[in-house]
Amino acid sequence: MTPRHGVSRTIRTQVAIVGAGPAGLTLACLLAGAGIESVVLENRSRAYVEERIRAGVLEQGTVEVLDAAGVGERLHREGIVHHGIYLQFAGERHRIPLSELADGRNIVIYGQTEVVKDLIQARLDAGLALRFEVDGVRVHEIETDRPRVTFAHQGERFELECDVIAGTDGFHGVCRPAIEEHLRVFSRDYPFAWLGILAAAPPSSDELVYAHHERGFALLSLRSLDRSRLYLQCAADERLDAWPDARIWDELQRRVALEGWTLVEGAVLEKGIAPMRSFVSEPMAHGRLFLAGDSAHIVPPTGAKGLNLAIADVSVLAEALVDWYRTGSDAGLAEYSATCLRRVWRAEQFSYWMTSMLHRPGDDPFEDQLQLSQLRYIVSSEAAARTLAENYVGLPLDHSRAQASVVRGA
Ligand SMILES: Cc1cc2nc3c(=O)[nH]c(=O)nc-3n(C[C@H](O)[C@H](O)[C@H](O)COP(=O)(O)OP(=O)(O)OC[C@H]3O[C@@H](n4cnc5c(N)ncnc54)[C@H](O)[C@@H]3O)c2cc1C
Repeated sequence: MTPRHGVSRTIRTQVAIVGAGPAGLTLACLLAGAGIESVVLENRSRAYVEERIRAGVLEQGTVEVLDAAGVGERLHREGIVHHGIYLQFAGERHRIPLSELADGRNIVIYGQTEVVKDLIQARLDAGLALRFEVDGVRVHEIETDRPRVTFAHQGERFELECDVIAGTDGFHGVCRPAIEEHLRVFSRDYPFAWLGILAAAPPSSDELVYAHHERGFALLSLRSLDRSRLYLQCAADERLDAWPDARIWDELQRRVALEGWTLVEGAVLEKGIAPMRSFVSEPMAHGRLFLAGDSAHIVPPTGAKGLNLAIADVSVLAEALVDWYRTGSDAGLAEYSATCLRRVWRAEQFSYWMTSMLHRPGDDPFEDQLQLSQLRYIVSSEAAARTLAENYVGLPLDHSRAQASVVRGA
């Protein structure tokens, strides 16, 4: 192959994957399992990607996809299975028995950092292409059947020729902007953010606690048996240096206080402020470029859906690509965006609903009473609790297709 002007080397693969987050890495593993070649390009270092603290609640369907990708072994050994969550409001804590209400389905606590480490290790152990610290990634000719990705790596300029590009480069990546003119965007910003800490402390509660409080929302979560992950609602423009550790603990203690129960404190290992945003761009594909995960949609983290949606997207994409390579049928690829978006919008609605029910929107006593009424309803009506449970554990991965066929059959 003769390299084009300015390019020192041309590489050929079947699927070019931009971004080594959970979406890109899982896609690469699923494709490798089906004998489809890919090259993964990541602009950060391996250490950075592996240490980036983010999500930690895996739906059962996500665990099943990670099993299928061949990276479930450590997850099953170290992941902590939860069958319920707590809602706390008006000074009382109520358990929502997720598994009882959602056909025995559960959630698994296993940090996104660990998912990413397992996926990277599997990729490298198999000797497959994964390049960290690439620069200047650009996608080209996506409306043709010979799309290309150009990038720089270790001082050389490369061109990656492929059949398909997967844009799994997150919200701030380059793939979605490359097709911006073909997209319709829906978004909502919230007037608050989450201040999150990772603490060297055993979890104080056996299951996650979502606390509604007059001072603002708080969440008690965990990453392992000796690491707590705790969040506080704060202002959208809050500055981290206004929150020394002592102030964070003091605020957490107030918002989750319960008679006869103690919040265990520990050294703060990491802290940060995450904005709250809902965002969907449609469609999730144009030409031979397929967006997946945060590059196409964002949810506020209240419903624990971001990582799970990313994995669901790539499981649909992998299935469609396998079908295309094996049979030549592009039906799955043609349906990819519509199939994913049905699930995406369900998660958007659920995340918005949980966020609106639990966060203090400002000084609005009317809203406050509506929230409390909704919370009381959930803990007193099995139907209402079931709605929360079904969505929280995640609808089965084939839900979108099942829903479509019910509608067609009607
Ligand atoms: C601070 C924070 C906290 C979060 N907390 C939670 C939570 O508690 N619960 C939850 O469910 N979700 C949470 N999320 C959301 C969840 O982490 C994401 O939904 C998930 O990471 C999506 O995976 P992804 O692979 O689509 O994108 P990402 O994880 O963003 O991965 C994209 C990858 O692409 C790389 N990349 C970007 N641009 C380029 C480029 N030009 N070239 C090459 N590579 C590129 C990035 O470095 C990154 O590695 C959080 C997100 C953030 C930002």
